[in-house]
Amino acid sequence: MCVSVRDDKICLMRAEIISIGTELLMGQITDTNAAFLSSQLPSLGIGLYWVTQVGDNQGRIVEALERGLGRSDIILTTGGLGPTEDDLTRESIAKFMGEEMYRDPELLIWLQGVMQNNFRNTNRQMTSNNFKQANLIPSAKAIPNDRGTAPGWMVEKNGKMIISMPGPPSEMTNMWQRHVRPMLAQKFPGDILVSRFIKAYGLGESALDAMIEEYLHSNNPSIGVYTRPDGIMMRLTAKAPDEAAGREILAPVEAGIQRILQDYVWGFDDDTIVSVVGKELKAKGMTLATMESCTGGLLASHITDTAGSSDFFKGGLVTYTNEIKTSFGVDPSIIETKGAISPETAEAMAKAVRLRLHSSIGIGITGVAGPDPIEGKPVGEVHLAISDGIRSATFMGKYRPPRADLKSRAAYAALFNLRAFLKQS
Ligand code: ATP
Ligand code: MG
Repeated sequence: MCVSVRDDKICLMRAEIISIGTELLMGQITDTNAAFLSSQLPSLGIGLYWVTQVGDNQGRIVEALERGLGRSDIILTTGGLGPTEDDLTRESIAKFMGEEMYRDPELLIWLQGVMQNNFRNTNRQMTSNNFKQANLIPSAKAIPNDRGTAPGWMVEKNGKMIISMPGPPSEMTNMWQRHVRPMLAQKFPGDILVSRFIKAYGLGESALDAMIEEYLHSNNPSIGVYTRPDGIMMRLTAKAPDEAAGREILAPVEAGIQRILQDYVWGFDDDTIVSVVGKELKAKGMTLATMESCTGGLLASHITDTAGSSDFFKGGLVTYTNEIKTSFGVDPSIIETKGAISPETAEAMAKAVRLRLHSSIGIGITGVAGPDPIEGKPVGEVHLAISDGIRSATFMGKYRPPRADLKSRAAYAALFNLRAFLKQS
């Protein structure tokens, strides 16, 4: 089946995910099952075009199935396979297929075995509604559940498929990896999708689009561009018979984009800006310490999100008031004459923390997180400084509220400025 994805004609099996559960619609749980399955489908060469969330309501589940199979080849459902009244996935598929459920004797024996084990361990009682998990319809095959009591369902009709897996993520991912994924790989052995991510910083989306315009209309690989707090991400996706052939299609386009964007590109695939600067610091045998005001420790938090940061990160101070800034070594006369929100204070913070924490490099951040201006400086004005004891660099950014976004942008700006600083040292 051929579908257009941003001018890109790719012919793939079309899949749709239906996540079932009222908790999803009430915002009580996040649909991580759909996120997991979405990430799995490209490498099987299966295109995902729709994700639907529907509550525990039989009429609406049947409606979602009808609509789904009208436009897709494969439906993947998660949730609603448990024993309770509100677990309605099996009933809904039976209704949609126009088939009667029956209790499958083999499945019942398996279920009784698992439950006896479980109930022995937990001391709970087995109730009759547990047995509905042994139900099937004539068109359904059971998919083993190695982590729980609800088997999955695999239903085939007119070359189309409904695959139902349980809601608990550990049961779902286990069933997917062990049973569903291998079955789909065997059933649809065609082309697969291979992706490469290129990460850039310092450019707006439209500027970037204009620069790489010649590649944007490419069909294979196709290119998607999106903005994140750590810059702009380009996703190149090639369709090919296998991974190696996919990489060959990606390589010249990747090289071309890199030739155009040069130093704006800071990483690929799973790189984070912290892993990139961390590698650089380690290679130079350098360490890092931070003194933060308006970002409230977010920079230190980003740094420590990356495993292995203890190899180069000495620590961070959150010095929110002027008094605390000076108690950690910032000269009070600088704050007095230049103001707390100034390049001079940021630089004094970077130098002070470098000395206090005995590190090669210090970073200072000070700014106005809002909602009110400080010292006549507007909300969003942030000064940051980097110092290695000999050389210092300062940078001013203006970021838009809300507070959380502004803090995040400032923390990332510090890391990207550190990358530039290290290139010059
Ligand atoms: P159970 O036998 O536990 O009832 P089930 O297949 O009936 O399993 P649900 O009752 O729909 O599944 O969900 C059980 C739990 O699984 C939810 O409370 C939630 O914690 C988790 N869960 C369900 N759907 C999702 C989803 N789409 N993403 C993440 N977690 C989910
Ligand atoms: Mg349930």
